[in-house]
Amino acid sequence: RFITFEGGEGAGKSTQVRRLQERLASMGIDAVATREPGGSTGAEIVRHLILSGAAKPLGPLAEAALFAAARADHLDATIRPALARGAWVVCDRFADSTRVYQGALGNIDPRLIAALETVTVGETKPDLTIILDIPAEEGLARATARSGIAADRFESEGLSFHRSLRDAFRELAEAEPERCVLIDARGDADTVASTVWSAVRQRLKP
Ligand code: C5P
Repeated sequence: RFITFEGGEGAGKSTQVRRLQERLASMGIDAVATREPGGSTGAEIVRHLILSGAAKPLGPLAEAALFAAARADHLDATIRPALARGAWVVCDRFADSTRVYQGALGNIDPRLIAALETVTVGETKPDLTIILDIPAEEGLARATARSGIAADRFESEGLSFHRSLRDAFRELAEAEPERCVLIDARGDADTVASTVWSAVRQRLKP
């Protein structure tokens, strides 16, 4: 089973990924928590290039290709081997982030984004995508308050960017209801974790 978490900044994705992985593991299920960009040795190098600003000279399409390269490595080195041995994979961001950040907000032709997705993801599509939804103001406040983590270039974008981000993720959830579940992420971590768990139980029957 392949589960991805998506949503804007400060929605609590990494906390919920960890919580779900722990819950599955406590039931004796082999569950792997991973993240994008990153999640494998090669992809973590690309993550560093992107988030440090070192890849800044690249234009939007080249940057999207860089995210795709990271995803290809992550799939080959981490996700597919785990799924092949029967493990559950719980991933913090995946191809929907590229559809939203590089596609909807990055002004790259959606057909190019779709082509990159076909090449990298192929048949390894998520069984379930949980979209954590939080008002832009609240998400931004949470992301900024995160101790010890300097705001990266996306977190430092203005409120209107974060509003568009939220809208794009909500549209995505509406467009693919059989794969996506939109979850209100305003509550505390425990509340959100139990809503997430209900969705996983209902959809995937662990
Ligand atoms: O989720 P996390 O904060 O670790 O993601 C790192 C940054 O990379 C985020 O600020 C996110 O906006 C950005 N990102 C992106 N395109 C993707 C995935 C992540 O711009 N496809």
